[in-house]
Amino acid sequence: MLGNIFAQLNIKAQCREYGIYLWQCPQFLFLLMGSVIVITIMVSYAIGTRYIADPETVILAVLSLAMILLIIAQIIVQSFERLAEANRLKSEFVSVVSHQLRTPISNLKWATELLMSGRLGSIEPPQTEYFQILKENLTRIGETVADLLIVSKIDTGRLPLKIEKVSVEKAIRDLISLFEPFSKASNVAIQFSCETNVPEILTDSMQVRVIMENLLDNAIRYSQEKGQIEMKLEKKGKNLHFTIRDNGIGIPQTDQKFIFQKFFRSSNVLRYQTRGSGLGLYITKAMVEKLGGRIGFMSQEGKGSTFWVQLPIRY
Ligand code: ADP
Repeated sequence: MLGNIFAQLNIKAQCREYGIYLWQCPQFLFLLMGSVIVITIMVSYAIGTRYIADPETVILAVLSLAMILLIIAQIIVQSFERLAEANRLKSEFVSVVSHQLRTPISNLKWATELLMSGRLGSIEPPQTEYFQILKENLTRIGETVADLLIVSKIDTGRLPLKIEKVSVEKAIRDLISLFEPFSKASNVAIQFSCETNVPEILTDSMQVRVIMENLLDNAIRYSQEKGQIEMKLEKKGKNLHFTIRDNGIGIPQTDQKFIFQKFFRSSNVLRYQTRGSGLGLYITKAMVEKLGGRIGFMSQEGKGSTFWVQLPIRY
């Protein structure tokens, strides 16, 4: 019982559970409105006693005011409570659905690969083509489900952090090798330069990989004919500074302020390109900030984009 009350008073934990900002948290609003009511009662009593001779009238006026404020506060807190609960249920729903979909999707992918391998009987070229389409689409669904799972963890503050010594340079080089078939197929050339004094840092290797992967994947996907990507890693003061520049389709000026929002895709991308969920940069920004860093970009439609990430150097 007492533990429950203390848990309710832990506003930060409650915000995290509901996946909302502090000012939207019912517990915080309850404390805020309570303080406003107490201050209003005291101030109105002080003013009332100065200007109204009859003390009973003063008390009656103050009590009426307090009553009205209490009712308003109750309505506000209750509305936010319902909103917060809906938000929590939404995150939980996304998390449960993503978890439940993961296994059947991998099973489907595995079964498709088995059929394609010909071990269960030979398949003809037209069938191979359809199996290939099936496999590609399953991969996309799998990626979206994985992204949704990460988003639900971010929104409920349950994204785990595993700190270890990480070579960001190696992570980038590994990623470039991994993306080579994709970049070659897209006719995109990738260049990477790294300063010699870049140290290994204490950070989360999985999150660093996801950050770099999302930025490189975007740079390749949003490239134009004869794409050129330049990546650079350097040490700047107390930070590692990573930039990735492409000469792709760029981001329209009017869309730039929304680019890190969940599910946002800019208007030019929607015209030409269908693949994508609009979750990559939301995840990337959340992870960069969780690692104590910063992220930003500059872009010009039709000319290209440069994204930069700054990660603190911790040994
Ligand atoms: P997705 O790429 O799956 O749509 P992201 O969250 O990674 O989602 O990116 C959000 C949007 O930002 C993209 O849809 C695209 O409009 C824009 N964007 C991101 N990176 C680039 C880039 N390098 N060049 C042009 N537009 C980009």
